[in-house]
Order: sequence, then C-alpha cells, then structure tokens
Amino acid sequence: MKVLKFGGTSVGTPQRMKDVTALVTADGQQKFVVLSAMSGTTNSLVEFADYLYKRNIESASNVLSTLRHKYRKHLEELYTSDPIREEVHEILKDIFAFLKGCSQKEMTPALERAILAQGELMSTNMVAGYMRQEGIDVVLIPAFDFMRLNDLGDPNHTYIRQRLNELLAESNHMIYLTQGFICLNAEGNIDNLQRGGSDYTASIIGADINAEEIQIWTDIDGMHNNDPRYVEGTKPVRQLNFEEAAELAYFGAKILHPTCIQPARYANVPVRLLNTMDPSAPGTLINNEMQEVGVKAIAAKDNITAIKVISSRMLLASGFLARLFKVFDDHKTSIDMVTTSEVGVSLTIDNTAYLEPILDDLRKLGTVQVDTNQCIICVVGDMAADQHGYCAKVLTALQEQPVRMVCYGGSTHNVSVLVSMEQKQWALRQLSEHLFK
Ligand code: ASP
Ligand code: MG
Repeated sequence: MKVLKFGGTSVGTPQRMKDVTALVTADGQQKFVVLSAMSGTTNSLVEFADYLYKRNIESASNVLSTLRHKYRKHLEELYTSDPIREEVHEILKDIFAFLKGCSQKEMTPALERAILAQGELMSTNMVAGYMRQEGIDVVLIPAFDFMRLNDLGDPNHTYIRQRLNELLAESNHMIYLTQGFICLNAEGNIDNLQRGGSDYTASIIGADINAEEIQIWTDIDGMHNNDPRYVEGTKPVRQLNFEEAAELAYFGAKILHPTCIQPARYANVPVRLLNTMDPSAPGTLINNEMQEVGVKAIAAKDNITAIKVISSRMLLASGFLARLFKVFDDHKTSIDMVTTSEVGVSLTIDNTAYLEPILDDLRKLGTVQVDTNQCIICVVGDMAADQHGYCAKVLTALQEQPVRMVCYGGSTHNVSVLVSMEQKQWALRQLSEHLFK
C-alpha cells in the first residue's frame, strides 16, 4: 500500500479537495491518505489561541467568525448531497462550538494544542464526506486512535505499528484517510508533531505499515537543484538519497519537513515528492540508493548568526572545545556549522533566543565576535564517488567575494559555506553557473 500526504494548499479549496479525491482514486488501488488542514487554517487557529492567551476575547471571536464563514461557504461548494452536507455540517458545528467555548476556559498549552488540532479534523471530515458522496469506499481513521508519542515526545513506533496493523487487518477499504500533524502524547492528551508535521505523520505511517512508497504531494514538481526564487532555470532533482535530502530539507529547501526523513529512511521506504498541479510530472524520488554522481542541489538558509571565539588558552590545551560546546548545550541552542583553527573556533546558530546568556558565558573563554545576518549555502551531492575537485569548484565559484566560513568533510554529501545575506543571491547564481552549466 502507498501512503499519500496532501499539504494545506493541495486541500486549500473545495475544488482542490475534489481534485485530490480524483487523484487518489484514479488507479483503483488501495491507499492510505494523510491530509493537512486547509491552507491558512492552522495559522488562524494559532492567532485565535494567541488572542485567548492575551484575554482579547473580541479579536479571538473575530478570527473565529471569519473562519466559520469560510467553512460554511466551503460546505456549500463541496456537496451536492443534502444529507452528507448536513452530516459534515454537524461535525463542523461541534468543532466551532468547542472553539467558541475555549474563550470561557483558562488558556493553557494543552488547550492550545487542542485548538490547533481542529484544522486537520475539519479537512479530513470534509474530504471523507465528499468521498462518500462520490460513492468511494473510504474510512476515516482518527489519528488519535494510533498516533501516540512516548514520554520523550517522540513517536511511539511500537504502539503505532501495532494499532495500525490491527486497524488494517480488521477492515478492507479502498481509501484509509487520516489527519496529519495531530496525535496524543504519553499522557493521552491532544498534541501535535510541530508545525508542518503532516509530512512526519506520513513518514511514520509509511514506516510502520511498511508501505511500498510514501508520496508527499505539494504544489511544486519536486525538490529543485537551486532556489527558484533567486535563480532562473532551476530543475527538479530526480533522485536523492536520504542523507542528501536531510541536508537539503534542513538547509532551507522548504518542500519537505526535515523530521520527515528519518522514519522512512530507517524503514527503507522510498519517499516521492509530487505535484498536485501536475500529477504526471516525475517529481523527486528519495531512497537509500546512491545513484548519480556529483553535485545534485544547492540550498540556502538565512538569518544565521556566526560566533567566533579566539583564545590563546586553546593552544595545545585539551577540553577547550568541550567547554565551548557545553555553553550552547546549557542554553539549549544547537550549532549548525563549526570550523576551527589552533587559536579559534567559528560556529553558527540559527536560534538566537539565548544569544545574550551564551555570549556572556563565552566571554569567560575568550574574545568573542558576533556576525548577524549570515546565510549558509549548502551544496549537496555524492562527493565521495569522485574524491577531488568539488570543494575547489565551490570556492572558485565564490572567489570574487568574501566567504566567512567553509565546512567540508563532515559528511561525504555536503560542502557548506557561510556568506552574508546580501551575497546570497549572487552566491546561488554563481554556484549554479559553475556547478550545473
Ligand atoms: N496544519 C499544520 C501546519 O500548518 C501541519 C501541516 O500542514 O503539515 O503546520
Ligand atoms: Mg506543510
């Protein structure tokens, strides 16, 4: 069985919901379908919860009535059958009643998570109703029935695998439909897999039912070899291995959520990125194979802060790096790039929430210099196959402007450089010229 995940824009209008239905039923084969909330809905729910935290009940109810109005129109458009429209309307009415009731409750993170879950509950009920109207053999499996976190907050694969396989063994339907993103935590309360987490849901399901393939349907034709917003003539990459995809997803290629890769990779289930607007386009296949040789893609990640610590105490001393990294660990901040010399270390962070206390602690270790507004440019490919030349090509492409850091050798899949954000577009174009033309 294949697992297909459709993101917010792919179910963003009643027409898109109809298109998704046509798409998943075209070949008559059994499928597991994961849906996001309609695009914009989760953001509205975040806004709603935020107003409730601030006890601004009036603005919260404005957000809610705009949303309710939208959904009422969607229901009108989606259904021709009155009984089915009525059935789905009842479900949505309960959801909106729950949301309205939240303004009388004390706002807590747990209530916020329950609020955020409503978008996926609405979209899946709407599509399930539409499929029933069209005579499709569909069953809606609530994610809460199988998607559980363990007490570390990670997916409880043992539980999920057992529940899903039971559910699948008990029944035989054409389309198994479920919500992305939402789950129950170890305490049994409503939780989620973080924003953008529907990809993760699909990957977990695919891994735990040992699917034939996981398909992530969005509105572009796969992962591109460079950022189409900055570089002309980019092309979809046909195949990546999981490691390359992980580097790209983390370093800014927005198409796939970085967490999505691990479950599929360990279970060895291929992931295919496909385009709802152009379903016959081949997209990008991500699997455990090393196919093409050489550079495959370039991605960039903005708003990076570089920190340099220079210390003569580092010379011939042991334990300096341990002390330095401990500072970041103490402040729960992860480090992306690292380069060292005998007297200094440069590293980059993405999350600057704890920058001040970090700098405070670092100043006890050496002289500290901070550069904000930096950009990591990540060049990904199979660089082990041909042992030489890639790093040189990257640096040659960028030789006309300053490069702040270079990282090579951490894996055989990547060369990363740090440049200032003003140089980003120039750097992406230069690299395209030198590496792909
Ligand atoms: N609806 C959730 C979000 O907007 C999850 C997802 O779409 O992947 O973050
Ligand atoms: Mg998404």
